[in-house]
Amino acid sequence: MSLQTLIEESRRYGSDSRYVLLGGGNTSYKDGGVLYVKASGWALSSIGSSGFVRMDLARMETIWDKTYSTDDDEREEEVLKDMMASRLEGESARPSVEALLHALLPFTYVVHLHPALVNGITCSVEGQKAVERNFPDALWIELVKPGFILAKIVRQRLALQKEKSGKTAQVIFLQNHGVFVGGATLEEIATQYDQIMGNIESLVSRKPDFTPLEIDPKRKAGIVSTLEHLTGATIVAAFNREFAHYLTDERVFSRIASSFTPDHIVYSGFKPLWVGEHSSVEEAYATFEKTYGCEPKIICVQNTGVFSVGEKPLPLFFDTVAVSVYSESFGGPFFMDEAMVLFIRNWEVEKYRSTQVTT
Ligand SMILES: [Zn+2]
Repeated sequence: MSLQTLIEESRRYGSDSRYVLLGGGNTSYKDGGVLYVKASGWALSSIGSSGFVRMDLARMETIWDKTYSTDDDEREEEVLKDMMASRLEGESARPSVEALLHALLPFTYVVHLHPALVNGITCSVEGQKAVERNFPDALWIELVKPGFILAKIVRQRLALQKEKSGKTAQVIFLQNHGVFVGGATLEEIATQYDQIMGNIESLVSRKPDFTPLEIDPKRKAGIVSTLEHLTGATIVAAFNREFAHYLTDERVFSRIASSFTPDHIVYSGFKPLWVGEHSSVEEAYATFEKTYGCEPKIICVQNTGVFSVGEKPLPLFFDTVAVSVYSESFGGPFFMDEAMVLFIRNWEVEKYRSTQVTT
């Protein structure tokens, strides 16, 4: 029955845009040495029992006794292989990238989410200070490579905390990522989330204003047709008061011009393209492609509007803007560094995830 309860709670979080966008976030349940963890590629909002992979916790534990390659790609491949081998017989789905973290947290239930409000703190210059001040019992984990390395660091920090205070944090804030909450019951976790969200909400001095604004129809038609020609995809345009603020000039734009979390990279690209008001969209697009070896997913035209290549990148771009606005209350935005962005862009797991996700 408990997996059923987890499914219902997962759907509730997944259907609430304050908590989950697209395929982000994952949940788990432990029972009799078995971990039920969300499979990669499932969205929480529509998850059923087949969206959870059953894994042998004892076998996963042996991962910590192994020595893996120092090369990023090789290491992740080796760990993935061991993770796949830790599945119970008959399981064919691929466990979430974060399954190792779920496994090591000593709680029956774990709910991991990336809410914009929370990331307003985790992606801010004073994030660590803000967490230490407002969530003294929580653990703060600085930006590290996701996957195995992240799980390893969390494992070490939990052990250290336990040694010092005899306690294990129920709430873990991950810089430029999100939050993990563990508990004996899902009610306990829901209470924690309510407190976290309420607490951060009371700390933010400004909230995003997404009141829609109209894009000049002629200009919009011109840009859409240019981009449709360049990308071969459907172009979705959006404009609102908050976007207008960030599209004023490149200095303001710089506060939303990079990647806050892995999810932002997966869905809306590692950086949006900036096009000056009087510049050519074609030229800016070509320069972006040449410079970064990939196509932009979000195109921002100064004082005009935001253009998304297909529908998927847009929700995460709204999220980038929301996170940036919230971060103002904690010293301003703090993006992932270049090396981390590159690691995620090249990470096979995330490439896999971006092809699997359903909305
Ligand atoms: Zn995550």
